[in-house]
Amino acid sequence: MATAEKHAFQAEIAQLLEIVIHSLYTDKEIFVRELVSNAADANEKLQFLQQSAGTEIFQPETALTIRVLTDESAKTITIVDTGIGMTQAELVENLGTIAHSGSKAFLEQIKQAQGDARLIGQFGVGFYSAFMVADQVEVFTRSYKTGEGGWIWKSDGKTGYEMEPASDLDRGTRIVLHLRDTEFAGESRVEGIIKHYSNFVSFPIELNGKVVNTVQPLWTKNRSEISEDEYTEFYKYLAHDLEAPRYRLHFNADAPLSIKAILFAPEKNSELLTMSRQEGEVHLYCKRVLITPKAKGLFPEWLRFLKGVVDSEDLPLNISRETMQDSALLRKLNDVLSKRVLKWLDEEAKADPEKYAQFFAQHGHCLKEGVATDWSHREALAKLLRFNSSHTEGEKVTSLADYLTRMPEAQKEVYFLSAASREAAEASPDYEVFRARGWEVLYLLDPRDEFVLEHLHTFEGKPLVAAGKADVKLDRPEDQAMKLSKEAAEKLSGFLKEVLGDRVGSVRSSERLVGSPAAVREADGAMPARMRRMMKLMGKEELGGLDMKPDFEINPDHPIVVSLERLSTQDEGLAKQVGAQLFENAMVASGLVEDPRMMLGRLNELLEKLLAAR
Ligand code: ADP
Ligand code: MG
Repeated sequence: MATAEKHAFQAEIAQLLEIVIHSLYTDKEIFVRELVSNAADANEKLQFLQQSAGTEIFQPETALTIRVLTDESAKTITIVDTGIGMTQAELVENLGTIAHSGSKAFLEQIKQAQGDARLIGQFGVGFYSAFMVADQVEVFTRSYKTGEGGWIWKSDGKTGYEMEPASDLDRGTRIVLHLRDTEFAGESRVEGIIKHYSNFVSFPIELNGKVVNTVQPLWTKNRSEISEDEYTEFYKYLAHDLEAPRYRLHFNADAPLSIKAILFAPEKNSELLTMSRQEGEVHLYCKRVLITPKAKGLFPEWLRFLKGVVDSEDLPLNISRETMQDSALLRKLNDVLSKRVLKWLDEEAKADPEKYAQFFAQHGHCLKEGVATDWSHREALAKLLRFNSSHTEGEKVTSLADYLTRMPEAQKEVYFLSAASREAAEASPDYEVFRARGWEVLYLLDPRDEFVLEHLHTFEGKPLVAAGKADVKLDRPEDQAMKLSKEAAEKLSGFLKEVLGDRVGSVRSSERLVGSPAAVREADGAMPARMRRMMKLMGKEELGGLDMKPDFEINPDHPIVVSLERLSTQDEGLAKQVGAQLFENAMVASGLVEDPRMMLGRLNELLEKLLAAR
């Protein structure tokens, strides 16, 4: 027999193991869940290979089972599966190196979560949880591939691992944990753990010879036979989540495709936490056989927050994962499922708007992405959007449909205003005319919203218009004239255009200002100010059209403007200074001035003149 080869763990794994062994104190029992789900994965992979013709399999007649054996006197727990097993190369790759980014993300999370072991399975590093409870782990494995022999992999989790060939192994994997203490070598303790975490594994789990789990897949049962708890446990098992899901949908359809599905929307969207894009986690089955885990293309990208299972009898069993990716059948399934999910979310939103608002706060960014990228579901998605508005209070939100019901007859468009906060929106000169008329304005506090509404363009036939670009005037009685006559206002506009020259496009009198003396309005087709600032930060000024000139609007009803008009004929020099200052104040109000210190010189001169005149 060849002597054992010694190998060192990859540096990242060594670091991970250090944490697993020394800083994870709570919920150590999850190692059972992790090893049992690895066993189930291995069996599922074999089941899949058996369905596809032409694959030669070692010991094809062996049934797919999972066995767990406890031995209190030897202080061991053993997990045995009859799945695909591992070759020597796969052992090195799967248990000695980390090919994916999971470990890094895990290391970061675990430091923050202060030793919460329950996180471990979410990051694709579940196997190593064995070292929380064992000081020696042995893996006996034999691949389903006919030309391969068996192997033993051994490690104490500290000094590296050893491998040597093993004869007489059956297909599959046997993992023996030499435990630090007897807790997890006790049958009743382990039975409780399996029932709690692994009840939905789709293979029988025998504990010391007795089956302990419910094998019938949940989605094949009648809804009336399933308790709320069972759904929640199923979700937690499937999503590796600690919390119950926000929403659940269990539905069966016969036409146009036969579908049985259980779908969940989690309470939290992990993207908000990790800042990285998540993968969809809906597994595709055909008649209870797993065809593709985390099936890509089953749902559009913007539904990637969903977890669950879809079982369709219409899929050919022997379809390969590659051809599945772009089959017409998958596209049809995708379309049917997307429509069903949109209907479901709409129903949930109607049933409990506040709960839906919480859902939207977590997953809304995905739906917004859908509006911007997926033309085919845009209208249904638009109904699911929520916004703060001048009508809602505090954190409350409104749908576009509800906004429409509040529109007075004179109002023909839906208005929106981008701002960093509700307060900033309410202080904006662009909002004044709407406040005066009592027309509702949506406050877009998420930078994505402006982009989304511009893509959407209309909602139920009503144009969606930026408040700053809207052609809305004050609703003033005919007989109540402006304080400044039309002619005087035109004259003052001409004067200001001369003073400001190239810094502005045009200067005009406006009927949309109420409290402010003046405002700048971005020219049509101009890139929004926020985006321009971003371009500048990125050093891409030439793309941002930073020299785009705003239009300058004056309020013919405001005392400053009225006095300025008089001043322009009496003291031209002072009027020029005041005019320039008025413009810059408006620029500040719109957030377009980068360095307000530039205007302090003029401001001080004005103060000096003011004081000298007293
Ligand atoms: P994950 O299961 O998320 O991939 P793990 O750390 O639990 O992460 O397992 C790492 C890899 O080791 C698995 O992806 C699989 O390839 C392999 N593996 C683990 N346990 C078994 C097993 N019982 N049979 C076959 N392969 C296994
Ligand atoms: Mg695993």
